[in-house]
Amino acid sequence: MLKKFFKKVDNLLKNNQFNKNQVTSTAAPINTALQLAQEHINSHALEIVTKLQKAGFEAYLVGGCIRDLLLGIPPKDFDVATSATPEQIKKLFRNSRIIGRRFKLVHVFWGKETIEVATFRGAHTSPNTAEHAQHASGRILRDNVFGTLSEDAYRRDFTINALYYNPNQKQLIDYVDGIEDINSKLIKLIGNPQKRYQEDPVRMLRAVRFAAKLNFTIEAETAAQIYEQAQLLADIPAARLFDEVLKLFLANNALKTFELLCQYNLFAKLFPDSAAILQQSPYTQLFLKQALLNTDQRLTAGKTVHPAFLYACLLWPVLLSKLAAPITESPPNIIELQHIANDVIAQQSKYTTIPKRFSIPMREIWECQVKLMRRQANKADILLNHPRFRAGYDFLLLRESVGEQTGQLAAWWANYQQTDELSRRKMIREIATSKKNYRQRRRGKPKFIRSNNTPNNE
Ligand code: ATP
Ligand code: MG
Repeated sequence: MLKKFFKKVDNLLKNNQFNKNQVTSTAAPINTALQLAQEHINSHALEIVTKLQKAGFEAYLVGGCIRDLLLGIPPKDFDVATSATPEQIKKLFRNSRIIGRRFKLVHVFWGKETIEVATFRGAHTSPNTAEHAQHASGRILRDNVFGTLSEDAYRRDFTINALYYNPNQKQLIDYVDGIEDINSKLIKLIGNPQKRYQEDPVRMLRAVRFAAKLNFTIEAETAAQIYEQAQLLADIPAARLFDEVLKLFLANNALKTFELLCQYNLFAKLFPDSAAILQQSPYTQLFLKQALLNTDQRLTAGKTVHPAFLYACLLWPVLLSKLAAPITESPPNIIELQHIANDVIAQQSKYTTIPKRFSIPMREIWECQVKLMRRQANKADILLNHPRFRAGYDFLLLRESVGEQTGQLAAWWANYQQTDELSRRKMIREIATSKKNYRQRRRGKPKFIRSNNTPNNE
């Protein structure tokens, strides 16, 4: 079917049946030396480009898909840039929707797949208008001024993200020496880094994300300005930062990304409470790094990582710091834990919102840490049937993997899950007996108070 389609496109090209009105940027710097393997190009993205071109518009594949294809990496998604306005795009594709206010573009849907189609952005010099608005700090609030292909290239973030490909004419267009920077493995902002970060501070997070993903270096001035401008992230809506956090940590480079975020003082802008504890607690360093390593390993193995689990990990040190005593020594009751968890979540939501569909299971994973300790009577069986049991148990395994002493709780649960009903009853009876003995042993012993709640393996 794909073959048939390419044949049709080839014939159209041979017979020059593409719309004669199509405007091609005459002075576009075309690189003819590089070719992209046609078979790696998403057929739906190709169809969209072809349809737009046939309708008389300029259209190109652009951004990460071209960068990744040149690097031999399978693209995460395919983006299209065109001279057609969002309304014109919408008219051409029935299965599409105009999205965004700040930056209007069109999502074209194909089953589960979504291709982002954006109109060329133009340069803007005039003060705030209906199409364009900028905050006094330089942050772009609205960017719907449309322009030409070359203007669009200079509005993109990094040189490596500003490459355009016309799959029908097999032309790669590079206004900003992006190919050179791909070869030099360099993340470089287009234009003045200070101004470009002021326009959109999220570009700092993107620089780090691409450096981790591609194993590239951030160019000197692009890097230096991150230290200068990091505080601007405070002005970004918390909902947008939540999306960025998921992109940062759920793309199979979580550990590397985390290390770079810490290096550039950006982690503290996203998770200030966790970052503060990180400075003082080697356990927290160990715990977070192991959590992120596990995240990468799960994704490599084709498994999923729920954002709730990720957030439960990132904020676990904060929760521990707010407990009256170390959790393994004196676990709080569930109501108490819920109050503390709600506080931690509310505080974090000022920086990155956590939608309820994630904050509820996240809190349940934390609650499980206490419930996994309470196994008397029928409590173990109730917990075993809880929808969050598996995640809670995995979380416990993670805690133990960094040396936290839980009295081999995970091994007990592994055993309990595997064994038969009779043995389970025996295991529960043994807990009751050992608890009784423990209480008797402790009676008369002086109480001691620990000032520090981080686990006892430090
Ligand atoms: P990936 O999809 O692999 O994460 P990408 O580079 O395709 O990487 P997207 O978020 O899909 O990233 O954006 C597509 C393109 O849009 C980018 O390559 C870049 O050209 C442009 N772009 C995205 N975000 C910004 C931004 N904040 N400022 C300027 N240009 C941007
Ligand atoms: Mg993309």
